[in-house]
Amino acid sequence: MFKRENTKRIKIGNIEIGGSDEIKIQSMCNVKTDNIEDVVKQILELEDAGVDIMRVSVPDEKAALSIDKIKNKIHIPLVADIHFDYKLALMCIERGIDKIRINPGNIKDFEKIKCIANECNKKNIPIRIGVNSGSVDKEILKKYDGRVTVSALLDMVKINVDLLNKCDFDNIVLSLKSSNVTMAVEAYKKISEIYNYPLHIGITEAGTLYSGSVKSSVGLGILLYEGLGDTMRVSLTANPIEEVKLAKEILKSLNLLKSGIEVISCPTCGRTNINIIEIANEVEERVKELKTKKYIKIAVMGCIVNGPGEAREANVGVAGGNGEGLIFKKGEIIKKIREEEIVNALIDEVKKMI
Ligand code: SF4
Repeated sequence: MFKRENTKRIKIGNIEIGGSDEIKIQSMCNVKTDNIEDVVKQILELEDAGVDIMRVSVPDEKAALSIDKIKNKIHIPLVADIHFDYKLALMCIERGIDKIRINPGNIKDFEKIKCIANECNKKNIPIRIGVNSGSVDKEILKKYDGRVTVSALLDMVKINVDLLNKCDFDNIVLSLKSSNVTMAVEAYKKISEIYNYPLHIGITEAGTLYSGSVKSSVGLGILLYEGLGDTMRVSLTANPIEEVKLAKEILKSLNLLKSGIEVISCPTCGRTNINIIEIANEVEERVKELKTKKYIKIAVMGCIVNGPGEAREANVGVAGGNGEGLIFKKGEIIKKIREEEIVNALIDEVKKMI
């Protein structure tokens, strides 16, 4: 697996995306943007969960007027999601927004598009062209018998990129989201052959927590494995904190996240003589409270058949016995303890490593 490294590097506030940089995780607030207190509270919670970039919708002036007030209270870059109204974009730029998501084609007047591009150029603010399968232009759809196709998505991107390039604007991030996984994958692959702009990847309208997590994991997993994606957003009909948790798990599963705690656990079988399901769930819950820049792997295994082998591969682990467990650390058995002491023992060992 490789990461496409020839993407342009783009600065979003105090972070960069593109090139060989780690994939940045983003999410979007699901409270009204003019409700500053709630927005800030949600962003701070997501910061704590590991989000790198947050986006808010800016449907009206009240929302645009809130941008500087929100920015003053958070520590990560803020993106404004704007449609149709160029004035809202200008208001956000004036108030220190770090990136704008807008489809210039929605703003019919070229002079207005130019105005946004000029202001963004002055302040080095990138623009994401966010094409979505649900909002392909009617004129483009006509060309494809009214159907959304990969070609239709690509046409939308090209039109929007051309508009910005005509304004001497090149500080661009691209996304082509579809709720259809295969369509999204194909579209991202094709666009990566045409432009070297960084890619914001995602499967849009993926669904509720369970089904959306599966769909997002499959789609984003394929893209990331192909080396595509500089920043990612999991879209779930759920609390945005779930989007960040899932994004981190996806990156961890592909060895693309270099820090954090990974818990692996066996599926249990007839050989299991301790309650591995309960222990694994409890360990996973408890590690959420632990913050570390290191990468730590915990193995929770039911028995000595595969247990010690897997547990030795991990930084710390347990292999269950009959109502007891062998705790391993750096490949060595360090102690044998009773079942009810296993969770605390594993957490204590992890804390020592942090
Ligand atoms: S580690 Fe042991 S208990 Fe767990 S699935 Fe494998 S054989 Fe069964």
